[in-house]
Amino acid sequence: MSEQTVLLEAKDIVKDYGEGHVLDGISLKIHAGEVIVLIGPSGCGKSTFLRCMNGLEQIQSGQIILDGEAITEGKTDWPKVRQKIGMVFQSYDLFPHMSVIDNIILGPVKVQGRDKREVTAEAEKLLARVGLIDKKDAFPRQLSGGQKQRVAIVRALILKPEILLFDEVTAALDPEMVREVLDVILELASEGYTMLIVTHEMQFAKAVADRIVFIDGGKVVESDTPENFFNQPKTDRARRFLNTFIYAKDTKK
Ligand code: ADP
Ligand code: MG
Repeated sequence: MSEQTVLLEAKDIVKDYGEGHVLDGISLKIHAGEVIVLIGPSGCGKSTFLRCMNGLEQIQSGQIILDGEAITEGKTDWPKVRQKIGMVFQSYDLFPHMSVIDNIILGPVKVQGRDKREVTAEAEKLLARVGLIDKKDAFPRQLSGGQKQRVAIVRALILKPEILLFDEVTAALDPEMVREVLDVILELASEGYTMLIVTHEMQFAKAVADRIVFIDGGKVVESDTPENFFNQPKTDRARRFLNTFIYAKDTKK
């Protein structure tokens, strides 16, 4: 796949929840194989943006284009689109009454109508890759947060999405479990997965991102390589954000 192929594009997205614009004209192109990390102050609309990208929120204006096709025009088959745009949330959202393996194969079998045995074999392979094959018959309550999140990633991967959206997937985890989840995402990046990642883990952002997109006030304020963004941010807003971040980290110690 050419690096130049635009896989997913947001064009001038405007979104509000009734009062004031949360997203005030956000445009973003994600190329095939590209990893973009979206950062910005709490409440600036990062989650909203990701949710708009796969139809979990309706936008007021703008366009979302997937594989060259505007999916915001007319009747979009969102369940179908969501098979192409996978999403992993902070809260895992595994079904508590279902085993790990059943959580994973539910979508492919029920929604995509794929063969159960084939999907199960694939799920086992993916579980092995994230180090959880011995947990395939466990229930979510028997897993740590980091393990649950890795299952949630496998559940997204098995649908073979074209792009993966990650919304602060380590934010609810105990510190010792953050690494195991970020390592899985780093590995996906090295395999060429196209990803849009929201995270507050700045070291991880530096390591994984091809491009950092900083949003504030409902707009894209900066879009640059991690090197440029972290070493020489162009705007005061980005500088302030990065400073606050460092300060917050220091004062926690
Ligand atoms: P971030 O993920 O960057 O922290 P969010 O996208 O969650 O920000 O929220 C952006 C803004 O939209 C916030 O002011 C938040 O309070 C508001 N918001 C988010 N979801 C809703 C909702 N469902 N209804 C009303 N306001 C919302
Ligand atoms: Mg959020």
